[in-house]
Amino acid sequence: MNIAIDGPAGAGKSTIARLLAKELGLRYLDTGAMYRAVTLEALRKGLSLDDEEELVKMVTSMDLEIVFGDESEGNLLFLGDENITELIRQPEISSQVSTLSKHKKVRDLVSSLQKEIGKSGSIVMDGRDIGTVVMPYAEWKFFLEASVQERAKRRKKQLEEKGLKVDLAELEAQISERDFLDKTRKNSPLIKADGAIEIDTTSLGIEEVVHKLLGLIRED
Ligand code: C5P
Repeated sequence: MNIAIDGPAGAGKSTIARLLAKELGLRYLDTGAMYRAVTLEALRKGLSLDDEEELVKMVTSMDLEIVFGDESEGNLLFLGDENITELIRQPEISSQVSTLSKHKKVRDLVSSLQKEIGKSGSIVMDGRDIGTVVMPYAEWKFFLEASVQERAKRRKKQLEEKGLKVDLAELEAQISERDFLDKTRKNSPLIKADGAIEIDTTSLGIEEVVHKLLGLIRED
């Protein structure tokens, strides 16, 4: 079984996808983490996030490894021997990743890896173009939404739990900007896939959403 979960930043996709995968005994892939890892490496190498050709060269030679960790930790990402799982969550990466992810050739490289992973067995994947591009054949497609205010609040809480202090208004502006870039880019923009079930999670807790999705899947 393949499950595609798309939606904007902070709609709860990753946590929900991970819990769903655990309940159903499937693998889970956080595709946004891959774009974040590429952004981290580009920034470290001092590349311009607008230089598509240089970015492509870098991605081609990148030593990125994804480990399907247990359900409590989700995916672990390594660049060579270095565990970058936490580093890629930094606000600096969040604010720049959408500039990198708009490039067609960069997307082709990253999404072909994701397609390969998808073809290798049952999985829950979350991202922006999973139901439209990466796994258009998925049996289940969900599109998770939530108000930008609620999404900013959730992100603030997550970051604070990691000891990072952030301003709510700034976070809201950053999320809106990222939504705008992801929804308006020419290549694989964030849109609801044909046949995807849309769920507004603004007033729902994580457990409620997972319960709802499991209900739909198991009823079928
Ligand atoms: O899911 P997350 O917020 O970590 O994704 C980070 C960014 O990576 C998104 O804002 C988007 O620009 C990009 N992304 C994408 N396609 C995906 C997953 C993420 O373009 N499938």
